[in-house]
Amino acid sequence: MEVLKCENLEKRVGKNILVENINFTINKGDVVGFIGANGAGKTTTIKLILGLIKLTKGKVLINGFDIKKDFIRAIEKVGAIVETPDLYMYLSGYDNLKITANNYKNISKDRIYEVAKIVGLENRIKDKVSTYSLGMRQRLGIAEAIINSPELLILDEPTNGLDIEGVIEVRNLIKDLSEKRDIAILISSHNLPEIENVCNRIIAIKNGKLVLDNTLEEFKTLEDGTKLTSEQAFIKKVGGSKID
Ligand code: ATP
Repeated sequence: MEVLKCENLEKRVGKNILVENINFTINKGDVVGFIGANGAGKTTTIKLILGLIKLTKGKVLINGFDIKKDFIRAIEKVGAIVETPDLYMYLSGYDNLKITANNYKNISKDRIYEVAKIVGLENRIKDKVSTYSLGMRQRLGIAEAIINSPELLILDEPTNGLDIEGVIEVRNLIKDLSEKRDIAILISSHNLPEIENVCNRIIAIKNGKLVLDNTLEEFKTLEDGTKLTSEQAFIKKVGGSKID
């Protein structure tokens, strides 16, 4: 089942083409890594999908609903963190989740405790967020993003700035959400080992255009069958302006 379909997405600002001709789909069960050099257009694409910026051209369908024509129904089952999660530092994790829950109808107290447990914060949920590590804050952000039981979760650089333990915590959580909770996930990241660890598909963007849409295995294999590491594959197949 198609959870997300992007058709010919294009964003122009004045004369600048930020992204163009972006076509890809995400199906139930997919964990898709979205890679590309700095400034390639990952965040722009994600913002277009979420309706945070307006499409110049193209169509985004989420669960079959067009974000332009049926925004509420399209976005209802999407959770996302773009850049860093917005958290109230002086409030507890629980209160932050409660504020997010108020944006939706019918999120029970039990559901708040349930998501706290899913992200492994159940023992600290009544503590102030200012006392949390970065990894814990990121997991709280993910808890907010999944509170309404999304079918699609979009994470922009979810492990940015985290230490090794934080990276492992978030990685395990992403795997858990995909495997046990059946959430399709799109993750943008520069951390290739991370992407390799959790994703079954890779899409790559270069200078605003998609340059590949592969299974992880395809991505790491050259046409002649040579196997590459994910870093080697990135340099050979994607690269960025610095490498060209
Ligand atoms: P990074 O990995 O560094 O986060 P990215 O792939 O997410 O990069 P984007 O943030 O999508 O890249 O930016 C794509 C390009 O569009 C960049 O060159 C950026 O400077 C440019 N850009 C982004 N927003 C605007 C805007 N509102 N007006 C003009 N140019 C913009």
